[in-house]
Amino acid sequence: MRSKILRWPALFIAGIFLSSVLCAQQKQPRASKWAIAVHGGAGETEWEHMDAATAAAYHDALARALQAGVQVLTSGGRTLDATEAAIKVLEDDSLFNAGRGSAFNDQGENEMDASIMDGATLQAGSVAGVHYTKNPISLARAIMEHTPYVMLAGPGADAFAIKAGLSQMPPSYFFTEMRWQELLDVLKQQGKPLPQRPAGVPPQKANAEGVPDPSRKPFAHKFGTVGVVARDIHGDISAGTSTGGMQGKMPGRVGDSPIIGAATYAANRSCAVSSTGVGEYFIRLSVAREICALIQYRHMSTQQAATYVINKEVASLKGGEGGVIVLDTKTSPVWSFNTLGMFRARQVEGQAPQIEVGK
Ligand code: ASP
Repeated sequence: MRSKILRWPALFIAGIFLSSVLCAQQKQPRASKWAIAVHGGAGETEWEHMDAATAAAYHDALARALQAGVQVLTSGGRTLDATEAAIKVLEDDSLFNAGRGSAFNDQGENEMDASIMDGATLQAGSVAGVHYTKNPISLARAIMEHTPYVMLAGPGADAFAIKAGLSQMPPSYFFTEMRWQELLDVLKQQGKPLPQRPAGVPPQKANAEGVPDPSRKPFAHKFGTVGVVARDIHGDISAGTSTGGMQGKMPGRVGDSPIIGAATYAANRSCAVSSTGVGEYFIRLSVAREICALIQYRHMSTQQAATYVINKEVASLKGGEGGVIVLDTKTSPVWSFNTLGMFRARQVEGQAPQIEVGK
């Protein structure tokens, strides 16, 4: 009897709590339609020699990454969660040059870079030259959220990843035969010595999967960096980028992908950008910030700014190759590239996904 008397007030209080939570959720302003864009790298030779099976595999991977982001956004989730979720799918997929499947430096080691930025707060996190973190984008986010810094590099970043409890993997996890053969090709072309296969990787078998058919020009996978821009229903935008860097790079080389303002930038008042291409040019031109500045100060549309920077500014530098995805707080995501192709996908609330593997 006594317990029954106690139970009714408890249920009453719980009811009031639940209805106030639901009311608060309903009252939360819905500022925008959600939107997201994903890229999986831009390049030249890739598109000259792409066969149907390869194109289908990339299409499927881009669709899964887009869906991971959409799932967060449709449930009212935050832009940063959508960006991180979509990038993790691509980092885990060995087709892309990020996380598993990363390119190697000329010593045969993976050195991965990533960055993320929150357009609502201008907080940013980035990481350069990590060896063991399964998802470098999550490490960039942990640096943003749990340290007073924007960027950590090398052994300090590896150590912080362990402290942050992020999943660590041996070199054999990141290794793919396809990417290794590509490295050997690059080093042979440059007349450099060939490194040993990484520890824990089995010896190459004859006709091993992923070894390019010598009768045709190999699918080069020279690029393959991944990136995402996303807008949530609260009207906030974010951007993230993750890469293994350029194939056969010097140890210690850092490209644009972890540089805030070069490959990644997000500010609600202007735009969110993620880039891919030859990083040195994107650093010199501060590509991501440049696009947002044109939108903020010259009042260009996202498409005008993206096209101007990629096709005029980047393209005017010899060797300036690459592309971007761009999103603001109001309009649909756009992209621009000056290469033969860029793996890309986008979706806006209420519309069908658009996935482009071709030129
Ligand atoms: N931007 C990357 C870098 O220079 C490479 C890429 O986008 O594929 O490291």
